[in-house]
Amino acid sequence: MTTHGQGVSPADGASAGVKGLAPYKPGRPIGEVARELGLDPAGIVKLASNENPLGMSPKSVAAVQQVLAVGDARYPDANGHDLKQALAAHYGIDAGWITLGNGSNDVLELAARALVGPGQRIVYSRYAFVVYPLVAKAIGAVGVEVPDDGLGHDLDAMLAAITPDTRLVFLANPNNPTGTFIEGERLLRFLEQVPPQVAVVLDEAYTEYLRPEQRYDALAWVKRLPNLIVSRTFSKAFGLAGLRVGFAVAQPAITDLLGRVRQPFNVNTLALVAAQAVLADADYQQRSYALNQQGLKQLSAAFDALGLTYVPSSGNFVLVKVGDAAAVNDALLRAGVIVRPVANYGLPEWLRISVGLPEENQKLIDALTKILKG
Ligand SMILES: *Cc1c(COP(=O)(O)O)cnc(C)c1O
Repeated sequence: MTTHGQGVSPADGASAGVKGLAPYKPGRPIGEVARELGLDPAGIVKLASNENPLGMSPKSVAAVQQVLAVGDARYPDANGHDLKQALAAHYGIDAGWITLGNGSNDVLELAARALVGPGQRIVYSRYAFVVYPLVAKAIGAVGVEVPDDGLGHDLDAMLAAITPDTRLVFLANPNNPTGTFIEGERLLRFLEQVPPQVAVVLDEAYTEYLRPEQRYDALAWVKRLPNLIVSRTFSKAFGLAGLRVGFAVAQPAITDLLGRVRQPFNVNTLALVAAQAVLADADYQQRSYALNQQGLKQLSAAFDALGLTYVPSSGNFVLVKVGDAAAVNDALLRAGVIVRPVANYGLPEWLRISVGLPEENQKLIDALTKILKG
């Protein structure tokens, strides 16, 4: 007996994890804020999603234009051969150890889907990247949130949280949204203590922004740690957030599994050529780094002057405590500045502010000063 029309839906049978998901809340697009508040989009500054304020590398733009000029209707190279070769040469790694992703978000999900079954555990820190609990829920895994050690990762507590049911650990360094950083030596000691049957995704979305004295080479660690997956993205320092491309580096046994759950054409043709082009654009990479250092100084100095508490950042954004962050955020939107409220991270008094161009940072500083003093 069927019961069509009696209010029964396939949605009823969805897993508890999926039903309990709160969708990822992105930074608000300029067009949406302009429409809602009746503002001129040209006057709005977006410092909400940690994008590269320089725009794309001119070399990426040229590479994309060249592809478009041909007007090829074919599928992309499912293996991303040319980009993998370029990455292998650039980072001194084996091309066969690379998995390309539609953004590194894709890579995070592939790791969870390939390695974790329903009911098994995924460990991550409180105030870590919000995608980790989302991925855990979506695949019916048990997300284990380990208390922070003052907004950063408590590595000892994370080790202690690993049980026989644990299959995966997510760890971002530097972390988003806090901007906190774990020194390479301490991180390596942690990785060496993770049991060999537990994989670690080391999410290095902001690694290009590390100062020279902070840098370490996790891609080299992969050679002696068979349970390590390093994840990188072209969305931040490489300026390709809109094209969606990232990658994972892991030993062949894990890379093979990631390849099995990957969609065959997960990285599009334009993203492939744009990524290869910016990888060869040392000048753009240097300018991105320098602009970010300058912007971090500009924002920190302003927050100091305003007497605001903030977390010294190793990324391209700053987490700052403003009190009633929802109200301050509303006022900033009306002033034409989009930043990121982080109440969904359990940080209702804080805002995360991406580093922009000097004049964009100044607009934010002027608006914030007016709001807090007014
Ligand atoms: C921005 C970010 C990513 C990258 O996302 P993409 O899907 O590559 O755009 C991954 N991890 C963290 C911690 C991030 O902040």
